[in-house]
This record gives sequence, structure tokens and C-alpha cells, in this order.
Amino acid sequence: MEGSLGAPTRHTIPWQDEAWYDETALEAELRRVYDICHGCRRCFNLCDSFPILFDAVDESPNEEVADLSQGQLKAVVDACTLCDMCFMTKCPYVPPHAFDLDFPHLMLRHRAVEHRKGKTSLADSQLAEMTRNGKLGTTFSGLANWATKESNGFTRGLMEDVLGIDARAHVPPFMDVPLTNQAPALIPAPNPDGPAFGRKVAIYAGCHDNFNDGTPGEAAMKVFAHNGLQVRIEYPDCCGMPKFENGDLGHVASAAQRISAHFAPLIADGWDVVPLTTSCALMLKFEWPLIEPDSERVALLSKHTFDVSEYVVRLAKEYGLAPIEAMPKAIAVHFACHARAQNMGPKAMEMLKLIPEARPALTERCSGHGGKWGIFKENFDRAIKVGKTTGRNLLKTEPDIVVSECPLAGPHLRQVMEANGNEPPARIGHPIEVMAQAYGL
Ligand code: SF4
Ligand code: SF4
Ligand code: SF4
Repeated sequence: MEGSLGAPTRHTIPWQDEAWYDETALEAELRRVYDICHGCRRCFNLCDSFPILFDAVDESPNEEVADLSQGQLKAVVDACTLCDMCFMTKCPYVPPHAFDLDFPHLMLRHRAVEHRKGKTSLADSQLAEMTRNGKLGTTFSGLANWATKESNGFTRGLMEDVLGIDARAHVPPFMDVPLTNQAPALIPAPNPDGPAFGRKVAIYAGCHDNFNDGTPGEAAMKVFAHNGLQVRIEYPDCCGMPKFENGDLGHVASAAQRISAHFAPLIADGWDVVPLTTSCALMLKFEWPLIEPDSERVALLSKHTFDVSEYVVRLAKEYGLAPIEAMPKAIAVHFACHARAQNMGPKAMEMLKLIPEARPALTERCSGHGGKWGIFKENFDRAIKVGKTTGRNLLKTEPDIVVSECPLAGPHLRQVMEANGNEPPARIGHPIEVMAQAYGL
């Protein structure tokens, strides 16, 4: 039975239901779904999970999923970056189809079971403490950046031995001062001649935006204020995506409650909410409402949250944008998985097309990084391999500028390009930085 007549939908995640953690039921569900995938194989080139599954089945005695060991079932889960692409772009069997297949959320269920059994690794748990790490990292930025730079063989060797972080993997350096602390001096006054004058936007800085790289945040503040918006920037806490990757759904639910409570009065006062990072936008818009389906505040925040590129395109449609100088440049645009997973179309591409004479070209493939997944020793080579075609596609048109909406994908793609034998651009930043550049801001 191919495809479904209903629009794809996603079930709420029953993380408070004991039955969801039943290991016998989980194994039966893994085998049921893997068997459907074995017969389908559409996703063979999306990531490493599917090739691992199909190779295991092909090499099994009877070429059947029933032959696979529990370790082989788990190897598929371990290779999944939770990018959502199989659900979003390939699978004809997603709900409401009778097969009721949501592959990424099945991987998540396996991680939730492992997490409950205390099997989340020390490194996965510690790296997911984003707010604590960000505060410490910015306070001791000199020491932290010295210790984590790739050229520091001694400390990176130690990190590899103790935490399992591959010594070759780029680890983002910390800023000296978090972006939200710098903001009072940085936020421009709204341009009274801007077409959207009177509108208000609260930028949600993700951990990377707040602690590691303030460039996209600064660019967004300037572009919005230039177009007349009143701007503020908020970092109430981490959205919990790294804990989501660990299957720690209780923590994610609590983050959803706290952060939606933070934004509720702002929304009531007319502020739109714009996360800078695609993964954060995905959490606020889609994953939180599936984890906290009965929360009105979570639903309200989801409704008032816009991805940054989506928001600029929306402003352009509703009010028009302040005039933009011509920028005759070729721009390679990486359409990050968590932007694609928001089901809004390639908004960065649409936004950059608003720049006169700009020539943006889209690459719709995973970078291979997958949050913190790609920096671990057991995954780093795979993360480079998955990203190779993406890296090659981006450079195919000899672009003047390369951008990605995912702040972790950018530096990773530079490493991929080097591995491909190409000279990477000095920076792969966020598309909003190109808008600011086009405005001369
Ligand atoms: S969510 Fe992404 S990484 Fe995971 S199985 Fe699907 S395509 Fe592969
Ligand atoms: S996730 Fe869906 S499309 Fe992908 S291999 Fe499985 S059944 Fe096929
Ligand atoms: S998803 Fe966003 S807020 Fe969460 S860890 Fe990543 S950057 Fe930080």
C-alpha cells in the first residue's frame, strides 16, 4: 500500500506513558519498521543508519530483519543524527498511512529507553548541559579556547581519551561576553522610516548564538531595526535539543514549560519570537507541542515563533523591505536539515533572492554534523563522509559566499571541504549575515 491520501502528521510523543518504555514492545516495533524499510529502501543515501540496516539484513543468514541481533538493531539508532529527513522528504508511510511509520521518533524512543536505563554516556550528558557550559566557557574563554583548539594536541588528546571527542573535530570557541550581555550596547534603535516600523521582534538566541558566535545575532538585530522593528534579544535557557538527542524528554518538557512561560508575556504584548538557530526554531515550533500537547503556553509560543529567514520573507510580503543595494554575487546556500524539517520551504534562498542581482543556489543535503553527534570519535569519520557530497555541491558553482542556516553545519562543512581536497571559504555563516552585508550594516 503506497502513500496516503491525508496530509502527513506526527503523533504526540507519549514519554509519560510507561508502555512507551517497554523494551519488548520497542524491539517488536523496531523489527516491524526495519522490515518495512528493508522492503522499501528509498532512504538508502540519506545517512548512515539506512546503509547499516540494509547491509546487516543483506549479510544475515536468511536476509531478514528477524535475523538481526539487538546490537545490530541498536547500531542503526546510534548512526541516526535525528535530522528528520527520512520523515520529511522520503517516507510514503508516515501517519495517517496504515503503516504509521515515524522513523526519527522511533530512534528517539530507543534513546529514551536507554536514557532511562542510565546508559547515556558521560560525554553526551555533559555536553548537553549547554547553559552551564556556555556560562563557564565565556567566563573562562581564554582557557577554554586554548584547550579546545584543534592544534592543541595535548588537551585535544585528553578530551578524546576522557570524553570521546575526536581530536580532529572542530569545537566552537567561546566569546568573552555572552551576546545577551552585550546586547544593550548593540541593539540599534528602530528606523522610523523602516517599512515595518511599529512591529516588535524578540530574538531567541540559542546557546551557540549566545555563547559561541554572536555574528548572526548582531546581523539579525541590524536588519530588523533597519526595517523599522523594535528589537530585543533573549536567552532564557537552552531549548533542550541536545537533551532531546539523548532521549531525556522530561528535561525537554521542563525547558519547554520554562521558556514558554518566559515568552508568554512578551507575546501578549505583541512581540514575535524569532530563534536564530534552525534547531531551536524546530523545537519551539514542532517538537515541544508534541512533547507538551496540553500546554496552552507551549502552543502559543509555537504559533508566534518564526525562523529568522522565514520572518524576513514574511516582512517582505507584509510590508516590503527597506531598499537593498545590488550585490552581484554567487551565494551557495546550505539548506540545513532542521530548516527543511520546519516544512516552510527554502526560506533562506527566498530571502537572499530579495537582494538585487544576488545569485543564490541551493544545496539540499545533510552536512553530516547532527548536533553534537558528529564530534564524537565513533562518528567523526562518518560525519565527514555523509557531508562529502554536500561540500562538493556547495562549491560546484565557485560561489563568492557560502552560507548555512545551521551554526554547527558551517564549520563542519569547512572541515568536509578540506577532506574533499578543496579550499574552504574563511567563514560559512548564516544567510542573515549576507542580508546585513547587502544593507551595508
Ligand atoms: S532522522 Fe536522519 S539520520 Fe535519522 S534515520 Fe532519518 S535520515 Fe537518517
Ligand atoms: S523510512 Fe520510509 S521511505 Fe525511508 S526506507 Fe523506511 S519505509 Fe522507506
Ligand atoms: S538547539 Fe539551540 S538552544 Fe539548543 S543547544 Fe542547540 S543552539 Fe542551543
